Amino acid sequence: MNPAKKIWLNGKISSLDKAVSFSFHQGLNYGACVYDGIRFYNTAKGPMIFRLDEHIGRFIYSSSVLRMNLGANKKELIKAVKDTIKANRLSSGYVRPMAYYSEPKMGINILGADLTTVTYVWPWRDVIKEKRVTMKIVKKRRLDGDTVDLNAKISGYYANGLLGFIEARESGFDEPLFLDKNGYIAEGAVNNIFIVKGKCLYTPKSGNILGGITRDTIIKIAPDLGLKVCEKNIKPEFLRTADEIFLTGTGIELERVVKISGYFSLRKDRGSVVPMLEDHYRKIVHGEIKKYKKWLTPVR
Ligand code: PMP
Repeated sequence: MNPAKKIWLNGKISSLDKAVSFSFHQGLNYGACVYDGIRFYNTAKGPMIFRLDEHIGRFIYSSSVLRMNLGANKKELIKAVKDTIKANRLSSGYVRPMAYYSEPKMGINILGADLTTVTYVWPWRDVIKEKRVTMKIVKKRRLDGDTVDLNAKISGYYANGLLGFIEARESGFDEPLFLDKNGYIAEGAVNNIFIVKGKCLYTPKSGNILGGITRDTIIKIAPDLGLKVCEKNIKPEFLRTADEIFLTGTGIELERVVKISGYFSLRKDRGSVVPMLEDHYRKIVHGEIKKYKKWLTPVR
């Protein structure tokens, strides 16, 4: 799927073809690239960007970890997101701000190298359909907090996600589920996991995961539905007695897990918590719940 025709490139709106630069640079060679993913939704009050402040905050944090000088402050990056959406005249979709070392420079010394900052947007319609996936607990362990800074979204980390993804797909499953170095459940390649038992939502505690913004949203909204959230270390055996399991991420929102190889299969008589949360989430992102309007930023 190609992004929309207008992008924000190094400070101004440009056309998509301008983004094609040298194919040799440190961003590609060493994964010296950071990015974020943001959704915007069509609401009764026009297009609204969901949790923009938090996403741009994370983007700036990620760039600081790789010592990038973005050449734009938070206010300007927020404007870049809005301007890119407006330039493409879109009312719902997905935005990806990205920064990468773009000099055709040999060697790992990225410090001070030229940087490209670009924002792409994709038109995505809001389709209400239940998403379902199968997962495999893969052999490769998740990168951990002693190895990398997991609060940053750095492209190079995704080599780990890709290896798990390949293993899962080649074994006939949709997505990988990673354990951390201690054998506790960590996360998927690009999503966080929640395990439902009764009225409790269990999720791996932060430390060896990217604590996603959608995960944070679920933690904050669950009590509205009478659900308790418990962040803890979770062994795979814990999955055997789960009522429901779901994944979270900006792009997927909530995604139901129907099977985890050897540990979990969704039983027919189970399954009311995920649809209830999905419904609540959709109302929130569409500006239908007053308490959470603070999370929405108008495009205009
Ligand atoms: N974990 C990883 C490794 C991810 O790449 C993502 C996607 N950003 C997530 C979790 C979910 O994070 P978020 O809810 O902020 O999209």
